[in-house]
Amino acid sequence: MTHILIAEDEPRISSFVSRGLKAAGYQTTVVEDGATALDIALSGTVDLLLLDVGLPTIDGFEVLRRLHGQGSSLPVIMLTARSSTRDTVAGLDAGASDYVTKPFKFDELLARVRSRLRTSAAPSGNIPVTLAVGDVALDMLSRRATVMGREIELSAREFALAEQFLRHPGQVMSREQLLSRVWGLDFDPGSNVVDVYVRYLRAKFGAERISTVRGAGYRWD
Ligand code: CA
Repeated sequence: MTHILIAEDEPRISSFVSRGLKAAGYQTTVVEDGATALDIALSGTVDLLLLDVGLPTIDGFEVLRRLHGQGSSLPVIMLTARSSTRDTVAGLDAGASDYVTKPFKFDELLARVRSRLRTSAAPSGNIPVTLAVGDVALDMLSRRATVMGREIELSAREFALAEQFLRHPGQVMSREQLLSRVWGLDFDPGSNVVDVYVRYLRAKFGAERISTVRGAGYRWD
């Protein structure tokens, strides 16, 4: 059974999340401080970590840094305060797989959890530190993107989208696949969000790299 570790020091939130995840078929463990979370996360017995930023003993960022310092590729979803975009950016820079801002709806969290578990269950198992196709490279730990060695600025979402393309070069990715893997949505919200972000990536990486395959989706060439 998939085991999710919840590191959250507000019992109201942890019990709400734990109950919901159990109902969705996951095994959960709740801890209330960073040091215990780190120990369990490093023990290899959990599949995903939901990590609050403000925790006693060691804060969420430090937990994340130490996890990566030990070479862990455990997917981590940070729980950040809505007001603090700085936390979000810092969390993603420190190597979080994703983040959810408080207050959140349980369904939103569940969609992220499913999406992250799917990504980490990709065939290769271990997440390579650098994902490179041709002259484009993504450093998965520092979340930096380079083209011909030159660094380009990507938002967290743009990075996640580029990651999906670079994991499947030469393959057509449908809008549904991209919505599910990058946005954690198992339905089409009826917006053209995928097309908009593909446009952003074309502007940053060069338009010729992403082909539109009519009626099917997009392909990284
Ligand atoms: Ca807290």
